[in-house]
Amino acid sequence: MTEQRRCILTIHAHPDDEASKGAPTLAMYHEGGVHTVLVCATGGEEGDLQNPALREAGQPFYGLTPEQTKVKLAELRPSELAESAGIIGFDEVVMLGYRDSGMVDTEPNNHPASFHMAPMDEAIGRFVEIIRRTRPQVIITYNDDQKGYPHPDHVKVHDISVPAFERAGDPAWYPEAGEPWQPSKLYYTVWSRARLVAVHEALLALKGASPYDDEWFAKRVGNDDERITTKLDVGGFLWARSGALRAHATQVDPTEAFWFGLADHELAEVYPYEDWVLARSTVGPVSIGDVENDLFDRIDLDDEIAVAS
Ligand SMILES: [Zn+2]
Repeated sequence: MTEQRRCILTIHAHPDDEASKGAPTLAMYHEGGVHTVLVCATGGEEGDLQNPALREAGQPFYGLTPEQTKVKLAELRPSELAESAGIIGFDEVVMLGYRDSGMVDTEPNNHPASFHMAPMDEAIGRFVEIIRRTRPQVIITYNDDQKGYPHPDHVKVHDISVPAFERAGDPAWYPEAGEPWQPSKLYYTVWSRARLVAVHEALLALKGASPYDDEWFAKRVGNDDERITTKLDVGGFLWARSGALRAHATQVDPTEAFWFGLADHELAEVYPYEDWVLARSTVGPVSIGDVENDLFDRIDLDDEIAVAS
């Protein structure tokens, strides 16, 4: 009988999404001895250079044509991902192997190797194989409501995750993809309105300006806060977010207030939480009126040892 290890698997669309969504949560569990797995659906091939300082003299993108810029980005992004994953503390990074589909209604949507074009059963099967091999109790994926950022790769990450959660434990699906393994919980990321309002107000109070204007709030932020089931205090792990974002030097402008308006210690005072929505569970729902403060809440590892032996 082997000791059952605790494992969290999180799936993202592009290199850098793991830095902007949930990095402190993953860092906290990694430090607590949980095996942490990052699945990245695409290589981010359609990303642009987002950091103008890298075009200055002496910097890697100085004087490059748009074509050369693209080649250089493709060269740098894998090492940025590796650095970010190392900072957060991922034990494993697994590429799902698809090509970045580009923004909605652009030509790269139609590239035959794009994630967008991948047949659903095939993409779900690739993900199921990773779930069966790494045996996570907890899977984290994107929300079902992506009106705020309807990138086709983000939408598809959600769309393959729900069936993969269900099929991974079903021996009738993908018999060649390893021993069935049923994860216990599937969580969604959520744009917490309470967090954004708190950050916005702190930016106005401390710095006199906020990049989140009324229009941005109206366009990007619904109010999903009543769906939040799970609130983690990650105030001691905000360095994972800022450090991992900085590791993606081509994708994140380190002077951008949207990402770095508040220092880690300021954010820790304003809103030290990451919020999650428990979307599927084999261990029952969160009781109405209750909020979990641990993704492994109610998961009994001994049960799984008994099943596995
Ligand atoms: Zn993305």
